[in-house]
Amino acid sequence: MGAVTALVDVLRRLAREGELYERLSAGRVRCHACGHRCLIPPGQRGVCKVRWNEDGRLMVPAGYVAGLQLDPVEKKPFFHAYPGARALSFGMLGCDYHCGYCILIRRRAGRDADSRRRRSISARRANHLRVR
Ligand code: SF4
Repeated sequence: MGAVTALVDVLRRLAREGELYERLSAGRVRCHACGHRCLIPPGQRGVCKVRWNEDGRLMVPAGYVAGLQLDPVEKKPFFHAYPGARALSFGMLGCDYHCGYCILIRRRAGRDADSRRRRSISARRANHLRVR
């Protein structure tokens, strides 16, 4: 049986330094990627659990998708945009909402086995899939 890799270690490899943040005193950072505007001390994570402070730098997810789906546009909230067209949706792990009715809450927080199913993909490749 092979070694099991913890999800947190996988995510650590699929991350890069973010851009939407500011460095503060005592090694803290302030993330500006969403409305929570998390103040994150060194070694801690934001509300979404997938962005963290590593030695005074905000590390963010990069280069993968946890979900990738091609659907009829009628399934999407932008119904009537292009009737009969298909819409490509993709997302990463983590979520900054705390909706009590969410059936994906563990996956969004990166805590369940399904969340280990992710595929590496670049922004260029995702865009290529969109136009195929
Ligand atoms: S929840 Fe995540 S994305 Fe939003 S501000 Fe906090 S660390 Fe940034």
